[in-house]
Amino acid sequence: MDVVVVGAGIAGLSCARALTEAGARVRVVERGRVVGGRLASKRYNGRYADIGAAYFVADDPGFAAQAASWQSRGLARPWTDTLLVYPGGTRTTGPVRWAAPGGLRSLAADLAAGLDVRLSTTLDAVPQDADAVVLAMPGPQALRLAPPAGIAEAAQAQRWQPVIAAVLTYPSREWGDLHGAFVNDHPALATICDDGDRRGDGAPVLVAHSSATLAAEHLDHPEAAAPILAGAVREVLGVAAEPEVHVHRWSFAQPEPVDAAYAVDGRVWLCGDAFGRPRVQTAWLSGRAVARALLGSDSAADQQFT
Ligand SMILES: Cc1cc2nc3c(=O)[nH]c(=O)nc-3n(C[C@H](O)[C@H](O)[C@H](O)COP(=O)(O)OP(=O)(O)OC[C@H]3O[C@@H](n4cnc5c(N)ncnc54)[C@H](O)[C@@H]3O)c2cc1C
Repeated sequence: MDVVVVGAGIAGLSCARALTEAGARVRVVERGRVVGGRLASKRYNGRYADIGAAYFVADDPGFAAQAASWQSRGLARPWTDTLLVYPGGTRTTGPVRWAAPGGLRSLAADLAAGLDVRLSTTLDAVPQDADAVVLAMPGPQALRLAPPAGIAEAAQAQRWQPVIAAVLTYPSREWGDLHGAFVNDHPALATICDDGDRRGDGAPVLVAHSSATLAAEHLDHPEAAAPILAGAVREVLGVAAEPEVHVHRWSFAQPEPVDAAYAVDGRVWLCGDAFGRPRVQTAWLSGRAVARALLGSDSAADQQFT
């Protein structure tokens, strides 16, 4: 079976890996210069900061096994189960959040190792030269490839919110006991994470994620959101120093959950984090579910025709 996976985010890579391990011939095509998609770590002043997913939770047994594999090789580690909630600064305890010392993108790079991945290649149509094509990306991006009707319908039904991420580098660590914080009911700010704490190098770097409202207002000029986000962090945490700020725009950051593992129309499949709660784990599971279904249908076809 020849499969083209379009998109080297965590969904596409988990799909490609499962298919490859089962013996399929898989080509992954990615428009970016690196793998990872929204599992993104970008270098500022020589140091990586996580600018997409802030952390991941692994409460599915299959994904927990993947996390354990990363942990055993020093790629990921349990980070914290305690975050703050503003206004008020109270503690909230939840599931263990995992982080990656080398940046979360290093986990995508690990999944991509040994796969046939073509980077810096943007597709504008569904490839014709494969038995199956997996569009592993947000629905609005999949629509640009003019997919068949069933996929187009599923993609159009998805609802997405934008986020602007701000990487704030301070002269020194001026905040107290902070792993990360949810900021509720704020016009500009949704979360703050201590990137030095989660990465484990103690760098004086915070990453703030905007509210969807602020992002929608600044999608065309995200740099204009930089002083607003820096001011909001100052107000919430009481950090006096001026940070150096870099922003990154995510036009399709967070989808509303859909109650299915993937969509399929003929030989074209759509998967990603819209198929469940919008999380790293969901994307990984969605990609695996497509791989399982493809392998199942492949063996069913073999049985039918032999
Ligand atoms: C700001 C932010 C904060 C988040 N926080 C968390 C968190 O704390 N915890 C958590 O679990 N999750 C979080 N998430 C969600 C998490 O990042 C996603 O669920 C997950 O990374 C999605 O993976 P994916 O493979 O489905 O999609 P993506 O990572 O978006 O991958 C899609 C890939 O397809 C490529 N592509 C698109 N179109 C084309 C084309 N035409 N040709 C070739 N390639 C194409 C893209 O370049 C991209 O690499 C966050 C996301 C954002 C943006």
